[in-house]
Amino acid sequence: MAAETGTARQVAASWLLPSAEAPTVAGQSITIDNGRIVAVAPDTKASAAGTLALPAFANAHDHARVVRVSQVGSYDVPLEAWLPYLALIPAIDPWLASVVAFARTARGGVGSVMAHYTRVQGLTDFPTEARAVAKAARDVGINVALAVHCRDLNPLVYDTHDDVLAKLSPQACDCITRRFLRPPVPAAEQVAMVDAVARDIEGDNVTVQYGPAGVQWCTDEMLRLIGEASARTGRRVHMHLLETRYQRIWADKTFPQGIVRYLDEIGLLNERVSFAHCIYLRPDEMELIAERGATIVVNTSSNFIVSSGLAPVGEMLARGCRVAMGLDGLAFDEDEDALREMRLAYNVHKARGFDVRVPRADILRFAFEHGRFAVTGAADGGRIAPGAPADLLLLDWEALSAELVEPDVPPLHLLLAKGRQDYIKGLIVGGREVVRDGTVATVDLPAMETELLATLRKAAPSTADMRTAMPELSAALAAHYGNDFYCG
Ligand SMILES: [Zn+2]
Repeated sequence: MAAETGTARQVAASWLLPSAEAPTVAGQSITIDNGRIVAVAPDTKASAAGTLALPAFANAHDHARVVRVSQVGSYDVPLEAWLPYLALIPAIDPWLASVVAFARTARGGVGSVMAHYTRVQGLTDFPTEARAVAKAARDVGINVALAVHCRDLNPLVYDTHDDVLAKLSPQACDCITRRFLRPPVPAAEQVAMVDAVARDIEGDNVTVQYGPAGVQWCTDEMLRLIGEASARTGRRVHMHLLETRYQRIWADKTFPQGIVRYLDEIGLLNERVSFAHCIYLRPDEMELIAERGATIVVNTSSNFIVSSGLAPVGEMLARGCRVAMGLDGLAFDEDEDALREMRLAYNVHKARGFDVRVPRADILRFAFEHGRFAVTGAADGGRIAPGAPADLLLLDWEALSAELVEPDVPPLHLLLAKGRQDYIKGLIVGGREVVRDGTVATVDLPAMETELLATLRKAAPSTADMRTAMPELSAALAAHYGNDFYCG
């Protein structure tokens, strides 16, 4: 599959999908040197390689989480009641947690990932933890943007939480107060921490972004500070936006001028910013986002799983938005399969009869071009061409095409009809072989997963208080979001 001559490496492809807009071409040899693609040339011998090469995928919204929904009993819970379930996950060694998350991401076909770090393990100070996350990223070898979480508002619900606490027993109220209602670190300190962490860990394949949790979770002071800091430093910003109908109602009551116009006023609507979800955007807001060049990250599986809704992807594209793909730690089969995620999004949004809403080139940009830009800030990726970064995904063409009856079915049809991570043979990121023969080559993922599961099970009693309080909290949250504020 890959041969090395001197420092350069050759990758032979039976088929090459060079970019979102270019057709697949047969029999190509790709030369990689010093982390970049230096040549792509026809090679008749390459036809026998049994490989379909395409740009590595990007996962532009994730959280470096290691626990699947069903592992902590939070399947089928709407987002607002689901978020507190994260407190059931015990704090563990951040390197172990991150290395498993990044290795699973790589095995799922992703070369660049946004780690919106909303769940700090907290066993040490944050700079020490961030160093461990950066080390995990480098050990695995994929591009990681660590979006450092900033939050100082609405710790439990999107408005006052008195009615929620009033519904709880004294024991549950004590637990929730202890775990969720600690006074926040001052906004300026949180923003300064992002810059300090960036100075400490950035380099190679790791970058740092400001990661405000979302408008409903940050004070005006916090968001303005981030808008100013991003303009000053050029550092990118990643945040949640309008993920649920309750967030939309809260936003409409809080910002008479409109939440997207508010973001524009405070310097958080520009090319440096990416927004996760955006399910409840209105057409005029999509147009403003498109005009300012911000990126929208759609998370189809996650939106199904936590019952948030369906993003208007066709409308976003029609209004000119740059739309990228995210898995949000909630892939449909509780794996990290980026190929299936792309296919799911495509099948959900592609067309109504003959009215095509998502052209194939757009779903490919969604999968490997726009997300890479949101993660790395570099616009030269998502393509296999001389000068581009050497981020390649290599699929097993023999297996993918094994059942063909008609020999000339385009490779792209097979990719969109049945592509999934089982077909992944290799993943190359910055010229480094991260997945080889379908297995993560840089770290021992199965051994780490075994260690992780044992660690989580051993530490599970540390969150027993939360487990006891969950049924009461869930019922109180359901009642809260059914109240007049959200229904009236
Ligand atoms: Zn998220």
